[in-house]
Amino acid sequence: MNQKCVNSGGESTLICAEQPLKLEQQFNLAATAIAAAKLWQVRCGEIITVRDSKHNWFRARIAQLDEQLLTIVPFESLPQPESALEICVFQALPDKERFELVLQKLTEIGVSHIVPFMSKHSSTLQQRDAGQKKSHRWPDVVLRAARQCRRAMVPQLFAVHTWDEVLEQLDAWDTKLILDARVGTWSMCEGVGSGQPNRVAIIVGPEGGFATDEIAQAQGCGAVPVTIGPRILRTETAAIVAAALVQHLAGDYA
Ligand code: SAH
Repeated sequence: MNQKCVNSGGESTLICAEQPLKLEQQFNLAATAIAAAKLWQVRCGEIITVRDSKHNWFRARIAQLDEQLLTIVPFESLPQPESALEICVFQALPDKERFELVLQKLTEIGVSHIVPFMSKHSSTLQQRDAGQKKSHRWPDVVLRAARQCRRAMVPQLFAVHTWDEVLEQLDAWDTKLILDARVGTWSMCEGVGSGQPNRVAIIVGPEGGFATDEIAQAQGCGAVPVTIGPRILRTETAAIVAAALVQHLAGDYA
């Protein structure tokens, strides 16, 4: 993704110990872990998710945190909190606060990349909001959701893209799905296929729906139109349902 990430999410937020960890013992972590912990904006006494050198995962309480020192006490083992499947959701911007709901829920579902975009049928109100009055809150919404659901990594949130920029980014994803409610499109299961993808992109249209040529352009870039059922969902519901289905079909929702 060469567009601007607006929230310092991604790999740099993984807090890793260079040693094996044990429960109820105190450990000092290295400088890279201190830098990662800073990105989570945590303080002494708060709880973080940590991966140790054996790739075991723990919840740990911060006993000390300053420029030089991060001391933690692991108190609980965790199943792997990050999906091996990378999921990017390209979300046509809904109006007002509804995008905050999308950010929160997609983070909980475990997506790795979130890319808002403007498309032809984005309404005037949406265009006005795309400015967006409250967009400064978005990184914080993602961070708080990641902390609340005990993720080990903060998803990467990108600046608002144009439709052409969305098309350019698609190449980076090995399976590309465009949500299209028309009869005749594939099911999610068919769209994901049986090839065990590592990186899946989901493109979710605006409340006004995609323009026909937008679907064709996405198809030209390798995207498959898929339906998520016979009812028309609001754009934010569609994003949440589609991300959960992809996590189920190819990710860590067993
Ligand atoms: N007014 C539009 C619907 C827009 S719903 C119309 O009548 O076509 C907003 C977006 O959510 C759509 O562009 C699509 O990407 C997605 N969506 C909603 N329901 C869907 C469904 N059942 N299957 C696939 N995509 C759906």
